[in-house]
Amino acid sequence: MDYSQTIAHIHQQLLLEKNHGQVAGYIPELATVDSEKFGVCLINTDNVCFWAGDWQEQFSIQSIIKVVTLSLAYQKLDAQLWQRVGVEPSGTPFNNLSRLEHDYGIPRNPFSNAGAIVVCDVLMELFSDPREVVITMLRTLASDEAIHFSQAIAASEKSEGYRNMALAYFMKSMGNIMHDVEDVLDLYFDVCSIAVNCEQLARIFIYLAKHGRSADDRHSYLSRAQAKRINAIMLTCGFYDEAGDFAFRVGLPGKSGVGGGIVAVMPGEFSLAVWSPRLNEKGNSYRGLRFLEQFTSMTEKTIF
Ligand code: GLN
Repeated sequence: MDYSQTIAHIHQQLLLEKNHGQVAGYIPELATVDSEKFGVCLINTDNVCFWAGDWQEQFSIQSIIKVVTLSLAYQKLDAQLWQRVGVEPSGTPFNNLSRLEHDYGIPRNPFSNAGAIVVCDVLMELFSDPREVVITMLRTLASDEAIHFSQAIAASEKSEGYRNMALAYFMKSMGNIMHDVEDVLDLYFDVCSIAVNCEQLARIFIYLAKHGRSADDRHSYLSRAQAKRINAIMLTCGFYDEAGDFAFRVGLPGKSGVGGGIVAVMPGEFSLAVWSPRLNEKGNSYRGLRFLEQFTSMTEKTIF
């Protein structure tokens, strides 16, 4: 299937439409990004690539990394992981505090900030150098050594990261964080800071389109059953309190980040990354969502 015309057409149409939303201002360094950037890249399971716009420009991965960190923890712990973090949609924003208290410090799902912080704590238990393990997985999947941490973004988020500190300290008080809170948060801010472009992101996520295997079939990151479950969590929890709306409008498992990236997966077929920094009020890329909605409507490529 040749997606080049469809991608170029939707990309052009959306550039003519008014853009909405705001760049993520609560991380000072992210507020400096050009809000009108717009890139798209689709990679299919035969490794053929289709693109448009600013697809080779790097941006901050932010919450999209939560899928990769979850995969690493799940690969090692399997079902045991669910004692520390649940798999239910929260219906609340990504940085919500009140539900965590109600749930005795066990986050509803691994894609809320609280859940991803617990997963970082788990990675510190499992690996002596979790940063190296995460970046190596990304570089291997994307076949690109250029993927790197951004110290500027990590430091910027840390300087104002009071909400995440509150979540982490609360979970520590409830016995769900084993390591020093500051160390866990440093790892969390570092992995969120990683710079990627649309092509790298689409390449990275091909393991979820290929039931746990890398594009070249040389690596197995997850079993087929595990890959199914990660895709299921993306579908039900990947967009916080907009997960239902995303499933309704787009119909694919996906994950967003406040850097303006969204990646969506069609199991067995492709992975598709979109980047546009203006976010809607739920913290998801406005144009990214519009693109994906139109793409799945035109191509009828959805899981439903
Ligand atoms: N690093 C961001 C934060 O913790 C990630 C949030 C997101 O991308 N939704 O607030």
